[in-house]
Parts: sequence; C-alpha cells; structure tokens
Amino acid sequence: MKILIITGPPYSGKGTQCRILKEKFGYNHISTGDQCRIEKENNTVIGKIMSEYEEKGDLVPDAIIKDLFEKIIDKNLKGEGIILDGYPRTISQVKDLIKLVTLKELKIKKVVHINVPHNELLVRAQKRAETSNRIDDKDVRIHKKRIEVYEQFTQPAIEFMKSNLNFIEVDGLGKIEEITEKIIQNLK
Ligand code: AMP
Repeated sequence: MKILIITGPPYSGKGTQCRILKEKFGYNHISTGDQCRIEKENNTVIGKIMSEYEEKGDLVPDAIIKDLFEKIIDKNLKGEGIILDGYPRTISQVKDLIKLVTLKELKIKKVVHINVPHNELLVRAQKRAETSNRIDDKDVRIHKKRIEVYEQFTQPAIEFMKSNLNFIEVDGLGKIEEITEKIIQNLK
C-alpha cells in the first residue's frame, strides 16, 4: 500500500487538494486535524486536551499525535493507498512515520509540498474565516501564530523529508483545478 504525503503551510489548500485526490485515486484520506476535531466533538478526554492546543494555534504534542495516528492508520490499511494531510508536522513525527511505515511494510510514494507565499496565506486565512466554523480560523492572531509555528517546527520537518524521501514541490497559486493538475502531473 502506497502513502502520499501532502505538505504545505496553513491555508495553502492542502485539505482541498487531498479531498480531490482522494476521489481521483480512490485513496483513503487521513487528516490529523480532522481527527482532532472529531475527538473534540465526541468529547473524549484526548479531544479536550487536543483542542487546548488547536484553539491557540499550537501543535498538539508529538506523543499524543503518535498514538492518534497509529490508531487511525490501522483503520485505513485496506484500499489503494493513503493520503496524509497535516501529518507529519515535526521532525519527530517524520521519524515516527518512517519507523511505522517500515514496520507495516508500507511505502511512502511521494511527498508533495504546496508552495504559497506568506502574504497570500494571511489573505486566504481571512477569507476562510468568513465561512469556517473552526475556532482557530476566527482570530487573525491565531492565523499568524499558526504560520509562525509552521515556520518554526514544520519547515525543518519538510527539509528533513526533502533530503530523505521522494519530494516534489508545486506552486500553490492559481485555481484549485490547476493546482490539482500540477500535482497529478508530478505524480506520474
Ligand atoms: P489542520 O486541520 O491540519 O490545520 O490542523 C488543525 C490543528 O490540529 C493544528 O493547528 C494543530 O493544533 C492540530 N494538529 C493537526 N495535525 C497535527 C500534527 N500532525 N501535529 C500536531 N498538531 C496537529
């Protein structure tokens, strides 16, 4: 079973592209962010802990994400493949993922990074705030915090993946369908 990792800053459109690719390729879609929100809606103990981080724009600690991810991946092992959205986000998560993939005899096919410039991210965040129900979308201070957290913790993880995995970058500016097309071209 193949794994496709989609990375990019907050508001780069990762979730949108993952949902389209899931339909096109028949892959399962794993979003750790969606899973955090499900745990919160279900009022689980772990959901309450996670939402404290999520609502401030911070990353949920690696140990919690590791348990959560191991729980979800087992439910997604049947099918053509898996698209990972919003995971891994730290170097430690990348290392955990590589260990897990080896253990389960899976294969990371590609890492696709969606590039969107900093200023455009803030514009998109403001737009998303108009329609979203997410608490972390409502406040511009949280938008900035999420981008800072991305730069501090996730960019080094992306650099690590660039050096160790099959990594490609696509320009995330333009229409949604144009970006999907660029991703698909790069996957061939
Ligand atoms: P997302 O929907 O991917 O933007 O994630 C929303 C929030 O969930 C993030 O801001 C984090 O608080 C938390 N989260 C999601 N995925 C991860 C992850 N891989 N590591 C740590 N925190 C995460």
